[in-house]
Amino acid sequence: MVTGMVLSAMPVGDYDKRLTLLTKERGKLTVFAKGVRRPSSHLMAAATPFVFGSFQLNEGRSIYHLQYASVRSYFTELARAQPEIYYGFYFLELADYYGQENADEGGMLNLLYLTLRALMNPKIDNRLIRRAFELRALVVQGEYPQADACVLCGVKEGLEAFSWKKHGMLCKSCAPSAPDARHLDAAAVYAMQYIIFAPLQKLYAFAVKPAIQAQLDTAVGELMNWTLDRKMKSQEMLDVMTGG
Ligand SMILES: [Zn+2]
Repeated sequence: MVTGMVLSAMPVGDYDKRLTLLTKERGKLTVFAKGVRRPSSHLMAAATPFVFGSFQLNEGRSIYHLQYASVRSYFTELARAQPEIYYGFYFLELADYYGQENADEGGMLNLLYLTLRALMNPKIDNRLIRRAFELRALVVQGEYPQADACVLCGVKEGLEAFSWKKHGMLCKSCAPSAPDARHLDAAAVYAMQYIIFAPLQKLYAFAVKPAIQAQLDTAVGELMNWTLDRKMKSQEMLDVMTGG
């Protein structure tokens, strides 16, 4: 038994699917789900993106086979919500991009689960969820920018800019030496620090004003463009649906 989430499900042949599963115990796995597109299959609903739960797998010669699933959440409400569903697919694709076989993916799995829950909460701004997920995913990968001190001189007070090229915050005196540096209000500095350092369970327990959200969009957006070596396919659809 492994704990995981279905990141993608591709139809194969007439009745089967090939799943990508992100699991806590064995990392990212390709799993063959035989017969799950038959209406009589008890695994039909489980072999679907966003499904989170426990999966019983048999290890074949070259691939895992899905035997049984005990679903904890289907996230069915998400499939009917727009534009939330497009955020959801983007988050799954990012998790797929970072996921590795035979690694402990418990951190990313927890982040995904909490983020999908947050997406279904109408009180939390989707744009904030996107930037928090992206930045926190970098934390899980150990690639996050320096946010608690100026990346050039080390001073901890008066941070007021962010540079993706320097990979961190800058103070007032150092900001002019990074041509790509973007100004951040104190609230935006705090928001980025919060996203990086807060306990995971509290990640979505804050809000920002629209002007601060715009600064986060720019800073984290540029950071992601630089960090990812290709654009996520689902990002194009997300950008169309959200005017981003
Ligand atoms: Zn400095």
